[in-house]
Amino acid sequence: TPPLPDLKALVRTVPDFPASGILFRDVTTLMADGAGLAGAIDALADLAAGLHVDAVAGIEARGFIFGAALAQKLGTGFVPLRKAGKLPVPTMGEDYALEYGEARLELDPAIIRTGHSVLLVDDLLATGGTALAGAQLLRRAGAQCTHAMFVIDLPDLGGMAALHEQGIEGRAVMA
Ligand code: IMP
Repeated sequence: TPPLPDLKALVRTVPDFPASGILFRDVTTLMADGAGLAGAIDALADLAAGLHVDAVAGIEARGFIFGAALAQKLGTGFVPLRKAGKLPVPTMGEDYALEYGEARLELDPAIIRTGHSVLLVDDLLATGGTALAGAQLLRRAGAQCTHAMFVIDLPDLGGMAALHEQGIEGRAVMA
């Protein structure tokens, strides 16, 4: 078996994006590496071990890549939480604040089964605002959302605590 990749070393750090003074963690370099992508998905699956998961929901866009791969590995379906205006059917929406401006996630509630446990996935947790909006949307549609998983947690921004306050246990592959 090949040696385990250093997942952290595969994440590129880009200064001053999207605004001056911000250090952007760029996971596209991790995704582009075969062993890195497989290692990240394996690590997410390890974090989900023992949890009852009926479906995996991913947040557009990078949450789709990790979330769909994790769903396939866990043997569940995948639920997309989309940016505004993309779904061709009536949606439920959740507006939330970003550091600069605001955003909206949308869900087709018809693909959620009442009471099903939906595991939320995104590439990165910062303040937790995005993940909380996703969890709120899933809950409004009738799902249970008690766990959320990320490839990267930026611990200084308090996202894990914000999730915990809303009854969601967050787990991350790396901090
Ligand atoms: P939050 O809502 O503050 O937790 O920000 C998390 C959301 O913003 C996720 O959907 C991330 O994809 C995105 N995001 C925030 N900062 C970064 C970063 O440094 N790299 C990649 N994505 C980021």
